Amino acid sequence: MEITLPPAPKVGMVSLGCPKNLVDSERILTKLRSDGYAMSPDYAGADVVLVNTCGFLDSAKEESLEAIGEAIAENGRVIVTGCMGQEAETIRARFPQVLAVTGAHQYEQVVGAVHEAAPMPASPYLNLVPDRDLKLTPRHYSYLKISEGCNHRCSFCIIPALRGDLVSRRPDAILREAEKLVAAGTRELLVISQDTSAYGLDLKHAEWPWKGAPVRAHMTDLARELGKLGAWVRLHYVYPYPHVDRVIPLMAEGLVLPYLDIPFQHAAPNVLRAMKRPANEARVLERLRSWRAICPDIAIRSTFVVGFPGETEADFQYLLDWLDEAQLDRVGAFRFEPVAGAAANSLPDPVPESVKEERYQRLMAKTAAISAAKLAARVGRVLDVIIDEVGEPDEDGARGATGRSQADAPEIDGAVYLRDVGDVAPGDIIPVTIEDADEHDLYGVPAAR
Ligand code: SF4
Repeated sequence: MEITLPPAPKVGMVSLGCPKNLVDSERILTKLRSDGYAMSPDYAGADVVLVNTCGFLDSAKEESLEAIGEAIAENGRVIVTGCMGQEAETIRARFPQVLAVTGAHQYEQVVGAVHEAAPMPASPYLNLVPDRDLKLTPRHYSYLKISEGCNHRCSFCIIPALRGDLVSRRPDAILREAEKLVAAGTRELLVISQDTSAYGLDLKHAEWPWKGAPVRAHMTDLARELGKLGAWVRLHYVYPYPHVDRVIPLMAEGLVLPYLDIPFQHAAPNVLRAMKRPANEARVLERLRSWRAICPDIAIRSTFVVGFPGETEADFQYLLDWLDEAQLDRVGAFRFEPVAGAAANSLPDPVPESVKEERYQRLMAKTAAISAAKLAARVGRVLDVIIDEVGEPDEDGARGATGRSQADAPEIDGAVYLRDVGDVAPGDIIPVTIEDADEHDLYGVPAAR
């Protein structure tokens, strides 16, 4: 006898903000999917829409509020979660019709709210556990969140107020998740947290058994074990503490990608002090030099803030000179923007907008020149490239593709544009001869094998 199943309720998801929020969205969707819910790619088909908000900057909050407004206008049945959940009153004042508001990481609450808003019809056939987790990133790379929260109190940041102090995941749980992701097709693991170098401090770096041997809750041990899974492992949000020196040999050994994302934010001692930045010490340049001596190919990515309150022209010039010395591979920059609730807002001597803009342009010109010179030095070399997208064949049947070298994280760094790729698929890692370079990207062709 055929059984006609009642249709599963459909959930739509709007995910805003950083990769950490994206991972939260994936977790929520995975749980809902295992509870039997279906996903809707658009507002019209959804029984309820989840908006996972970001509250990091005032501009992000405004974007979150606009997304909530759009979801209400298009669908009407909206649940809000994520960082802005801390400000339930603001949300309810503007959108009284919102069905529920839950905060960041309140997975059970948000899933409970969906069950209430769009109850599952009673059917044992709908409550299937999917084979693998739902992912919002392409199948071949995955973000791996190793901890929540942060013990630092940078004066421009409200993350600790929103997400609390550092809470690390157990290393065996992280490794199990990573192993599952690799088995499901992930070729690149992107390790994320607020401070990856602090991983395990709250667990006192205790040991857990993993594959018959103990593994410490420590960045070095975790990186080494992740490196054995056979995927690229990329470390994000690392601070240059002395113990980070110990992951550099893992890069030289090929276990972890020769890449570190270190959000320096500034270089001038006065500004770093006012920012209350961790690992704020004068010997960073020395440390960069010693890392490059061990692993010459290491790519350092960073972000900087210009126009922080009290930043003088001399401070800014110090940063430019520091960048000349540091020769960072990839740099992102922001003009300082006060975030409601951040301690930095009450600092004296705000920098006028026009000065911020002028410094931003100077910083970008400097870092673009450094990047162009570093990329030009790669022309003629053969680099491993992971394929992200493959184009359609042209009239001659030739196909191009877009990929990334080991020095490029997805979304934030440059790309490698390939010609005449033949038969490749997203996630393939192939040797590529680099033929040309510009300020941010490389151009190449698959190397003759
Ligand atoms: S390290 Fe500083 S900027 Fe990063 S999350 Fe912690 S407090 Fe915020």
